[in-house]
Amino acid sequence: MNEYKVRTSSPEDTMKISEKLGMLAEEQDVFILEGDLGAGKTTFTKGLAKGLGVNRVVNSPTFNIIKEYKGRIPLYHMDVYRLAESEEDLGFDEYFYGSGVTVVEWAHLIEHYLPSSLLKISLFHEGGNNRGIVLEPKGERYIRLCEELLKNESISN
Ligand code: ADP
Ligand code: MG
Repeated sequence: MNEYKVRTSSPEDTMKISEKLGMLAEEQDVFILEGDLGAGKTTFTKGLAKGLGVNRVVNSPTFNIIKEYKGRIPLYHMDVYRLAESEEDLGFDEYFYGSGVTVVEWAHLIEHYLPSSLLKISLFHEGGNNRGIVLEPKGERYIRLCEELLKNESISN
């Protein structure tokens, strides 16, 4: 299985990578974000939004669950933390197979509803402002996307 790891040492670093991902993103891309509280999932999403040309400030959608932003293509930002194990279907497919890019924080909570092809991004605290970011592409589209994204980055692993 393909897996790529990068390290960042500031929120700006993390956003630089996700901004690039946002520039490469296409309609119906699904990115899932995993990581402890404060690991940087929302920070990552902010950079992604910038790369998609979103001008509004992206905040954690914890109380809305799903927020939509206008960019070059729409960004659907979901934080399903509050759903816990309720297994509630909020019409996720409308987003996954819609006309924008979907980002899901805490996606394992809606595992049953996720498409089989997606990019999993896990963020880890590595002391201070250091973060490890592991990219696990599922499906050809995302393998190519990761290779394009990391072409000029130093990749460990
Ligand atoms: P999450 O959504 O995973 O709970 P947030 O993105 O809301 O996390 O918060 C991450 C916090 O960590 C922010 O305050 C951010 O400024 C800080 N931070 C420090 N270093 C980094 C880094 N390398 N990457 C991302 N965030 C970082
Ligand atoms: Mg968050």
